[in-house]
Amino acid sequence: MPTTKPKYRRILLKLSGEALVGDLDHGIDPKALSSIAQEIVRATKGGAQMAIVIGGGNIWRGTSDEAAGINRVTADNMGMMATVINALALQDALEARRVPTRVQSAIEVNKLAEPCILRRATRHLEKGRVVIFAGGIGSPYFTTDTTAALRAIEISAQILLKATKVDGVYTDDPQKNPKATKYKTLRFEEAIVKRLKIMDTSAFTLCMDNKIPVLVFDLNVSGNIAKAVHGEKVGTLVH
Ligand code: UDP
Repeated sequence: MPTTKPKYRRILLKLSGEALVGDLDHGIDPKALSSIAQEIVRATKGGAQMAIVIGGGNIWRGTSDEAAGINRVTADNMGMMATVINALALQDALEARRVPTRVQSAIEVNKLAEPCILRRATRHLEKGRVVIFAGGIGSPYFTTDTTAALRAIEISAQILLKATKVDGVYTDDPQKNPKATKYKTLRFEEAIVKRLKIMDTSAFTLCMDNKIPVLVFDLNVSGNIAKAVHGEKVGTLVH
């Protein structure tokens, strides 16, 4: 377990809702939740300040087939509520492991979470608390990837860690093209020219314009978050 000084002092970790699905087809699998919490404990051992943006796709996505008959704004509001549910689950799992946390929500759920106040979030981070940002940016028509980019900028994170199901960015879809190769590093401009899909366009542009590097890596490999935090070789670094 790396307890050495982390390479990145302040980190924004983006977890998609799917990270919590585990063996289920939707919702929150206690085993997956527990394993992610454990990985976060491991990653923050050396003193890295960690903020997390969690998605809601395991429960509800405003653009999903199920949402087709529902007004888009309402469907997106439901998606933002889903991220609050996930944030509370993650908070519980982390606090069960004695990690102090605060959930801040961009939509008002004052009985359950603090409002999103960036100065306060920064203070929590300085005190060693993990801050979980819920409720997306609080507006429909956005994603939690864009939220992650925005919060990373706002808290002056040195890197955005995008934990996914794949181990990095490939020249082509590795499932369809066996000749596809993985990039170790990649420039934002190259990703745009080659139309490589890493995050949605607004999230990507925010990171590029504000010089926030993005590390794309596989969440399902044990120890990967800690490795990323310590600057060990993992995934693809977009910079
Ligand atoms: N959402 C939104 N505004 C935001 C962030 C999220 O309306 O700022 C809604 C949107 O409907 C989205 C859902 O919340 O589909 C869940 O977020 P996302 O799809 O980004 O979750 P993930 O794919 O990361 O699990």
